Amino acid sequence: MTVEGTKVCPECSETIQGQALVCHYCGFDYRAASRQQVAKSTNGMAVASMVLGIVWIYWIGSILALIFGYLARKQIDASDGTQQGRGMAIAGIVLGWVGVGTLVITIVWVTIISLMSDSL
Ligand SMILES: [Zn+2]
Repeated sequence: MTVEGTKVCPECSETIQGQALVCHYCGFDYRAASRQQVAKSTNGMAVASMVLGIVWIYWIGSILALIFGYLARKQIDASDGTQQGRGMAIAGIVLGWVGVGTLVITIVWVTIISLMSDSL
């Protein structure tokens, strides 16, 4: 809860003056915090990759997760630290490969089972 003219410090949770640029309890610097927020953005494709890896949608999500994951990782690496979400991109890639892996296993099993039932 914030009282008008005051704000709560994200570092120490003390209520301080709304105009304050530095928290006088813990020294938290609001100017540095807002600079970081402006400079860094999360790569949208990294988020999409992880979400698609989770939702799976009959392997369509897995394949899209792989594509978005690799593109996002490339963009994040090229962004020189201004883009975040590398962990999410990697999660999407891993989930994508797990999805593709289960697809391959499913195809192999279905093939084996149909071959076995033919020979009976
Ligand atoms: Zn503080």
